[in-house]
Amino acid sequence: MVLSKHPSAGWTLLALSILASACAHQRQAVERVEPGSTAPQRTRALGDYPTPVLLVGIDGFRYDYLDVFEPPNLLAIAANGARAERLVPSFPSKTFPNHYTLVTGLVPDNHGIVSNNIVDPKLGKFSLGNRDAVSDGRWWGGEPVWTTAQNNGLPSAALFWPGSEAEINGDRPDFWLPYDDDLPGADRLDKIIEWLALPEAERPRFLTLYFSRVDSASHRYGPLSHQARTAVMEVDALLGELNVRLEAMSQPIHWVIVSDHGMAETAPDRVIMVDDYVDLDQYHLIDTSPVLAIAPNTDHEASPGWEDRLVSSLRRSPHLEAYRKKDLPKHLRHGSNDRVAPVLALANDGWRFALRAREGSRPQVRLGGQHGYDPTIDSMGALFVASGPRILPGELGPIQNVDVYSLLCELLGVEPATNDGSLDALAPILRSRD
Ligand code: AMP
Ligand code: ZN
Ligand code: ZN
Repeated sequence: MVLSKHPSAGWTLLALSILASACAHQRQAVERVEPGSTAPQRTRALGDYPTPVLLVGIDGFRYDYLDVFEPPNLLAIAANGARAERLVPSFPSKTFPNHYTLVTGLVPDNHGIVSNNIVDPKLGKFSLGNRDAVSDGRWWGGEPVWTTAQNNGLPSAALFWPGSEAEINGDRPDFWLPYDDDLPGADRLDKIIEWLALPEAERPRFLTLYFSRVDSASHRYGPLSHQARTAVMEVDALLGELNVRLEAMSQPIHWVIVSDHGMAETAPDRVIMVDDYVDLDQYHLIDTSPVLAIAPNTDHEASPGWEDRLVSSLRRSPHLEAYRKKDLPKHLRHGSNDRVAPVLALANDGWRFALRAREGSRPQVRLGGQHGYDPTIDSMGALFVASGPRILPGELGPIQNVDVYSLLCELLGVEPATNDGSLDALAPILRSRD
């Protein structure tokens, strides 16, 4: 499906056949029990609601996919609005830390989701697949934008977003669904449309929509693989279809389309064997590739100076950088949180860690993709595209992902909570409020 770029014509659908097949698919959408549905009681006068803001997260969409793969609908949205040369993620360039940074404006060190795999001295273990931890509000710090919106009388809805399943400081999105990676794209669109068709006072003004397939394909086959391209085109077609449906119901929106990180190409010969540098009888790994987070075993009495000795041992590898937590480079803005492990090792671009004990001395690593590296390296660059009534046409240079929360608040017309970003870098693409 391709949309015309001419603003006065709106986005005209050129390929109706794809829409027809997508609609047929929609009709099969299963009615789901929705656990997260509290009819919002809002106090605003009708007419005092901002244009809804739809935050779309395309996991693992590297900044250059836009020009390399040329997804037509994303390019049309960018041509009608704005794009950044890249969105620079926060450290570590992993999914959960960065999605939560995008909606809080806080670096992971300050919002507490310091990685996808975490150990907290009091709460125990956190990982993406651990439903209890993911939905436990005590892990999630800061104020997510859905709370900022709701505190200002604006209903909100999350079609998947890390943090949206937890009650954070007593609040959740008014509407949300438990994460289901298998929920078809067409059903996701139906849900967004259903929410936007609600009566004015209940209609969400902040919504999220999330897709994982670009990340999965890029991991498995590599960032520039034709499978990554197919995944990009599938998500792009869904966005095109969503736009057509929004136009059909005369519902204007602000699109803010982002990704959490980019993707580096890995290779069979770019593997660092952890066991060669770390004595796993004495230390254990809280997180692995491509950032090793290392702590002493509980039954091991670590002797004074162990961090320095471990760092020295790790630095024998030319393919990584190792630091005590308190010595991490300043630009990573990481290391003050209790949940950050005492010693970290960052693999170089495209390298990964493996265990001899697990994989043998000759691990079979396909060509594929990985992320988690220093966010400032080229391959970690992420996507930023926006359009809507308040977005001026323009192309920004690199922008930081901590700034996205400020943009979302500005588009919603609400005061942001304290955060690590600002609106400064985005000012050139903002039309002043009437
Ligand atoms: P990563 O390991 O950083 O590449 O994480 C990507 C994975 O995160 C994807 O395969 C998604 O299925 C998963 N994911 C994304 N959002 C959520 C969520 N809200 N809850 C659980 N898993 C998620
Ligand atoms: Zn991700
Ligand atoms: Zn990933």
